[in-house]
Amino acid sequence: MYSKIDNKGNIITGTTVILIVSIMLIVIFIVNSINYMENENINSISNDNFKYIIKDYNNNLEQLGRDSIAEETEKLYHAHIIHDSRKDIKKILNNKLKEVNKEYKEKYGINIRSEVLSVESTDSPWKVLFKVRIKADKDTNQFDGILESNSSIEGLKDPLPYAKLPKIYNNINNDGKKIHYFQALAQYLRLHNVDSYESYILATSPLFIKKCPYDPYIHHGDGNTLKECLKQGYFHESADGSCYLCRLDGKGVCPHYGMEVFIQTHTPLTNESVSCSDHVVFHDRYTGEKLNKYDINSLILDSSHAKKYGLVHEDG
Ligand SMILES: [Zn+2]
Ligand SMILES: [Zn+2]
Repeated sequence: MYSKIDNKGNIITGTTVILIVSIMLIVIFIVNSINYMENENINSISNDNFKYIIKDYNNNLEQLGRDSIAEETEKLYHAHIIHDSRKDIKKILNNKLKEVNKEYKEKYGINIRSEVLSVESTDSPWKVLFKVRIKADKDTNQFDGILESNSSIEGLKDPLPYAKLPKIYNNINNDGKKIHYFQALAQYLRLHNVDSYESYILATSPLFIKKCPYDPYIHHGDGNTLKECLKQGYFHESADGSCYLCRLDGKGVCPHYGMEVFIQTHTPLTNESVSCSDHVVFHDRYTGEKLNKYDINSLILDSSHAKKYGLVHEDG
């Protein structure tokens, strides 16, 4: 008897739960739709002063985004390990925006609530895209929309070497211009069974990301172009190299359009070793040989990279 009532009870409870869940889903859907419909474009704002404030806020995102990325990079340079750079940068920027929102309240009497929606790689390796949802109101004016901003990563430090060779090797360092690998990179390559890893003892690479102006790259073989490129420490666009955000996560390659830089060896050894483009050193690990056997500063390069940059292996 009782068990029958219990069963009925269960059925009623079950039906009620399904009903409540359905209603909740419908409500969530409607609320989202309304929010979506309320999303505005800055240009739809009719009040000029209000529009100016929102535009000003949007313009500031570029520098704030860049500062947030730089802060994340500094963590690596201070021996921290990063697991999800996009998530960390979101958090850093959210905190910065809280302060900015207070400033705008004092300065313009505007209420702004903000939330960083995403930090994304773009089809340019030199830019990172930020999307920030803001809800703002001042007097009778309201704005609810998504602001977008591209931040340049040029001039920031290259995160990859410090992400790949954390302080456990403790003899990676920099002089404010170049990264010096001392024994660290050779030890890392030895652990990855690279032949002639000794070639990378005392190797160096540029500290700051600078975009190479010698484009198309095939002209690196002309005159002093390669020498100048290495002296300035330029980075190059590369579909095989990793993007800035993935570099922070310690990835030598990634699905985004990325960049590559030459890791320069300073060795009298002439054996074949791993090719010196950084995505090869830190991920692909195929071999190359010195462009000029007798030059201790010669790049160690595979034939396909040599071709891309218009360089030839000199016989000798
Ligand atoms: Zn170059
Ligand atoms: Zn990437």
